[in-house]
Amino acid sequence: MSAESSSAEYGLFIGGASLPSSRGDRRPVMDPATNRAIATTAVGGVDDARHAMEVADGAFRNSGWADDDGSRRARALGRLARLLEERAEAFAQLETTNMGKTLREAKGDIGYVVRTLDYVAGLADKIEGETIPVPGARLDYTLREPLGVTVHIAPWNYPLLLAIRSVAPALAAGNSVVLKPASLTPLTALKFAALTQEAGVPDGIFNVVVGPGGEVGETLVTDPRCRSVSFTGSGEVGQRIAELAARRIIPMTLELGGKSPVVVLPDADLDRAAKGIAFGIFGNAGQMCWAGSRLIVPDPIHEELVAKVAKIADGMKVGPGVESTSEMGPVVSKEQLERVVGFVEEARSAGATVVAGGQKIADPPLAEGNFLRPTVVTDVAPDHRVVREEVFGPVLSVLRYTSLDEAIRLANDTRYGLFAALWTRDLAQAHIVARQLEAGMVSINEPPTTFPQSPFGGYKESGIGFEQGRRVVEAYTRRKNVIVNLGSAKPKK
Ligand code: NAD
Repeated sequence: MSAESSSAEYGLFIGGASLPSSRGDRRPVMDPATNRAIATTAVGGVDDARHAMEVADGAFRNSGWADDDGSRRARALGRLARLLEERAEAFAQLETTNMGKTLREAKGDIGYVVRTLDYVAGLADKIEGETIPVPGARLDYTLREPLGVTVHIAPWNYPLLLAIRSVAPALAAGNSVVLKPASLTPLTALKFAALTQEAGVPDGIFNVVVGPGGEVGETLVTDPRCRSVSFTGSGEVGQRIAELAARRIIPMTLELGGKSPVVVLPDADLDRAAKGIAFGIFGNAGQMCWAGSRLIVPDPIHEELVAKVAKIADGMKVGPGVESTSEMGPVVSKEQLERVVGFVEEARSAGATVVAGGQKIADPPLAEGNFLRPTVVTDVAPDHRVVREEVFGPVLSVLRYTSLDEAIRLANDTRYGLFAALWTRDLAQAHIVARQLEAGMVSINEPPTTFPQSPFGGYKESGIGFEQGRRVVEAYTRRKNVIVNLGSAKPKK
C-alpha cells in the first residue's frame, strides 16, 4: 500500500548534496493511515541550520543566480515545472503516504505546484524598476534587487504546495532559499530538492533543513544572513516568528490560522451550497487553514440545509488516501486525532448536538490509523470553543441567524480573517455582503478556491502580507532609488 519502503532514507539537502545531520540524528516518518514508519530522515540542529545559511549566502553571492537577467531563472523554473509534471504521480503517492490526504487531493496539490512554478517563471524576467520625474536636470530611477537568503517555514497540511508557494517567487526574484518543512511531512520537499539540481538551479540556491521548529526554525530566522522569513503555520508560532523578525528588522510574511464563516442566505441553491460546504470542511480531512468551519444559516432553512450536509457527511467513504475509493483520508497524527475528538466531546458536554460523525473509527481495518468520520455539530453557542478555535479537522459547527445584520456580525465575530464563503442567488446582494466580511478572501457560490494568480492572505490574526498573485515576486525584492545629477547641460533645441 505504501509508495515508500520503511528503509527509505533521506538526508538534509544543503549545497546540492544530501547530507546526514551533524549530530547524526534520524527520525522515522509515519504513514497516518497505518501509524507505521515509511522512511527515516536526518534531523538537523543548530549547526546544520547555520551551515545551510552559510552555503545559501555563498551561492547567492557567487553563483550568478541573482545577477543574471531573469530569463535564466525563468527557464530553470520552467524546467522544474516540467520535471515535476513528469513525476507528478510519484510525488502524489509520496504526499499521500506521508500526510494522509487522498491521492486525488495529492494529485491536485502537485498540479498546483506545477502551475505555481509556471506562473512565477513567467514573472522572473518582468521584475522592473521605474523612472520617476523629479525637478531639475536629474534622472531618478528605481532598481528591484533580490533580498539575499530567504527563509521559508512550512506546515504539514499541504507539505509541498505551501513550501513552494513562497519558495518559487523567492527563487524567481534571484534569492537563495533555505526551507524548513514540517517534521511530520518532510518527504516531498526533500524529493523536490533533487529536481532543482536536474533543472539547473545552482547548488546552494535551494536548501532544505529538517528539524525541530524551536531549534532549526529559530536558528534560521535569527541568523544574520536571513533577509526575510515566510512562515505558514499556527498563530502561536507566527507570533514567535514575528518577535524574532522584529528584533532583526527583517520583512516577514505570515500565513496563519482561520475560523472561516460560510454564510448562507435564504435564497441560496441549497443542493449546490451543501456540496460546497462539505467540500470546504471535509476536504483534506478539514486540515485547511481556510476550512469553512462555521456554517451560518437562517432559521427557516436550518433544518433542511443541515440535513443535506449531514447526509453528505454520512455518505462519505473514509479510508486510506492511496485507495481510489476513499473520499476522505486520516488526519495527520494520533495527537491531531485526539485533539479534534476532544473539541467534539467538549462541545457535546456543553449541550451541542452531534448530527453526523463525532468519533474515531475504531473498527478494523481503519482502527490502526487516525481516521474519524466527517462531523457536523449543531446547537452550539457562539462562545463555544469549537466555534471560536481552529479545530483543524473535519468538524463543521452550525450557527443560526434571524437577520442579515446578525449573520454578518456572527461571521466577523472571530479573531481570524482568512476566508469567508457566501451562498446566494442574489449576486448584487452578494457583492455588498462581500465588502462587509472581514476576510482576505471571499468566495461567492464557491467552496474555498484559489489560483497561483490570485492573492492569498488574511486579515486580523490570520496573517500579514500575502502569497501568490502578480506582485508576489516583488515581495522578495527590495527597492533602491538611484538619482543622477545630469549637470548643467541643456538639451539642444
Ligand atoms: P505549526 O505552527 O506548529 O508549525 C509550522 C512550522 O513551524 C513547522 O515547520 C514547525 O516545525 C515550525 N516551527 C514550530 N515552532 C517554531 C519556532 N519556534 N520557530 C520557527 N519555526 C517553528 O503549524 P502546523 O501544525 O504545522 O500547521 C497547522 C497550522 O498552519 C494551522 O494553524 C493552519 O491554519 C496554519 N496554516 C495556514 C495557512 C495559510 O496560508 N494561512 C496554510 C496552511 C496552514
